[in-house]
Amino acid sequence: MKSRARLFVKGIVQGVGFRPFIYGLAGSHSLNGWVLNSTEGVSIEVEGEKESLDSFIEQVRVKAPPLAVIDSIDVEYLSPQNYDGFVIRHSKGDKDKYVKISPDISLCDDCLAELFDPADRRYRYPFINCTNCGPRFTIIKDIPYDRENTTMQSFRMCPLCQAEYEDPTNRRFHAQPNACPVCGPSVVLEDLNGKIECDDPINKAIELMVEGKIVAIKGIGGFHLACDASNDTAVKILRERKRRTFKPFAIMSNNLERIKEYCIVSDEENKLLQCIQRPIVLLKKLCGNLISESVAPNNNYIGVMLPYSPLHYVLLDSPLLALVMTSGNISEEPIVVGNDEAKRRLSDLADYFLFHNRDIQMRCDDSVAKVWNGHQVMLRRSRGYAPHSVDLDFSMKEILACGGELKNTFCLTKDNHAFISHHIGDLQNIEAYKYYQDSIEYYKKLFRIKPEAIAYDLHPDYLSTRYALEQSDIKLVGVQHHHAHVVSCMAVNGLNEKVIGVACDGTGYGTDGAIWGCEFMIADQAGFQRRGHLKYVALPGGDMSTKETYRMAVSYLYSVYGNKLFDINIPLFKRINHKKLAFIKSMIEKGVNAPLTSSCGRLFDAVSSLIGVRDDVTYEAQAAIELEMITDSGVTDVYSYNIITGDEYIIDVGEVFRGIVFDLNHEVPKGVISAKFHNTVADFIVSMCEKLRIENDIKKVVLSGGTFQNTYLITEVTRRLTEKEFITYFHKRIPTNDGGLSLGQAVISNRTKIISCFS
Ligand SMILES: [Zn+2]
Ligand SMILES: [Zn+2]
Repeated sequence: MKSRARLFVKGIVQGVGFRPFIYGLAGSHSLNGWVLNSTEGVSIEVEGEKESLDSFIEQVRVKAPPLAVIDSIDVEYLSPQNYDGFVIRHSKGDKDKYVKISPDISLCDDCLAELFDPADRRYRYPFINCTNCGPRFTIIKDIPYDRENTTMQSFRMCPLCQAEYEDPTNRRFHAQPNACPVCGPSVVLEDLNGKIECDDPINKAIELMVEGKIVAIKGIGGFHLACDASNDTAVKILRERKRRTFKPFAIMSNNLERIKEYCIVSDEENKLLQCIQRPIVLLKKLCGNLISESVAPNNNYIGVMLPYSPLHYVLLDSPLLALVMTSGNISEEPIVVGNDEAKRRLSDLADYFLFHNRDIQMRCDDSVAKVWNGHQVMLRRSRGYAPHSVDLDFSMKEILACGGELKNTFCLTKDNHAFISHHIGDLQNIEAYKYYQDSIEYYKKLFRIKPEAIAYDLHPDYLSTRYALEQSDIKLVGVQHHHAHVVSCMAVNGLNEKVIGVACDGTGYGTDGAIWGCEFMIADQAGFQRRGHLKYVALPGGDMSTKETYRMAVSYLYSVYGNKLFDINIPLFKRINHKKLAFIKSMIEKGVNAPLTSSCGRLFDAVSSLIGVRDDVTYEAQAAIELEMITDSGVTDVYSYNIITGDEYIIDVGEVFRGIVFDLNHEVPKGVISAKFHNTVADFIVSMCEKLRIENDIKKVVLSGGTFQNTYLITEVTRRLTEKEFITYFHKRIPTNDGGLSLGQAVISNRTKIISCFS
């Protein structure tokens, strides 16, 4: 019996080779009909024998192309129309509808094989791609995703490429960035004086890097600054020029074998390195490796990635063990994307420029991830992941959430989708702020979202807050920072109930005007009740104390020893000029420029400085990271502390500082002190959760905030909570740091009540 089925497929089904796949699948099932891209997804009609139809429908899901993400398939059975053959019909457009847009995807195995096949017409062609791989998000100007809506619009396909593009059985059928050496983009090597004549610009670039030069390389989402990662002098010069003294550089190696020469790689880490998104993966260094120590100083880990664009593969088809591949920018400004812009902004940083002439429509930094507890944890969700939505269990209004200040992302929502932006970065300079505003407009246009509310952080000085407050005729919802952290973690874990929320991070504006950061709350998506926190101490000099960490050591010691503070005998007071110390003490005493804080990050800073690990930092969380790196993992001791019961629980860590001073005076190794301190923090977190469980009969604990990027701490906290029969939830797909904040803001503002506390 003949029958007809109409299918509607939603998800990431455009620009991923879905129609040719359907074409082939219909053919192999002897079905007639058609397939069509519409603005919201893909429509299919097939008719034939009922058995073949059923098998076809099943295989649409099972055998879908690797990049397709199917959200739903609706099927309707109809009477046969007697179609003649199977055709791909022309796209239907509808201006107000939206489709999901694929992120940029690393080179596929088929293209890789062609890239290094001397007989192939794209042999060593650095822009080879197909429907299963290549740039997407970074070249799209508008939807539908057709060539004229991408930055490939200016390249006219040659007859061979055009034929592939039009052949439904070809891997390059409607591959919008399809190109070859005859018709597509090309690379050119330049220095500041102009083009360098050579046969093979990529080979020449490699030669120059072998000689120790620094080359700015245009990639998929922006420029990288590259040099030989084993050349200590070159890496140091790059640090000097980039004005980046300690913050680790990411590196790229050709294959796993090379990476294993300098890092330990577990099976899970290998999987993460090889996945199509190709994030930078944090891997543990091997002792005595050949990578320059200046790549990631004072750190036991290196951020490593495998090549993801064909250009990278050709570059790394060389004897170099690894290339430094750090974002092409000065300090924390947005990554450079244009050729002219590169010459202007990177002229003091790079000796040479490896340009190409395919424009980058949207800049997009590399993503960063690690493996923790056997699964992937995102630290920066950007290239390869954005603008893929995070899908929620509930429907959302159209909302724009502005995010925080550091590691900013914003979030736009529609239906059950949360489109969390790629990494915007630190919103502390005008370039970043402009990039932020442009990106918001770009997302609004691509996803056809007109927000009815804007959610923002309560911190009055954040540029993201300023942006929100400047928008008119729209509902504004202020969201407390740590509530947003906790709810972001709840949302991705599908929690919609009251939980114990633990937020540990550096800085977040509190509802009482203090700087919060070690917060225990009973929270749900609609509100929170602050139930406990670290005892307030002064933040002498405000933001200065995040840079000069010894200020926090003085602040904590003052809170313990008061006026007698300088009577204690510790190396810190010999390292730092006494006038400075006295000045800080007087700031605290008089309460001048010394706001109050319960920040967890500042507690780590204080300990890091007190024991002589780091007195001042050059990048965010450096003191805490270096403190974690030296922990002696065999130590199980803790310091004593007090939890004071009142309206809220107050955690008093005065005894911790007395204990550390005692240990310092008895020459206990720093690694032991660090471990005891970490254990203490884990211990008071668990004690607090136990108190809140008894009071509220809740045993689900949600852990969020930047401090939980600390692997030692999150491992200890999770282990101890599990031992006490709590159920713990942590971030995986979106970062625990401020990069995940925007999602929490969006979900909170989706609930009716405008901020902030219930009780
Ligand atoms: Zn491919
Ligand atoms: Zn061509």
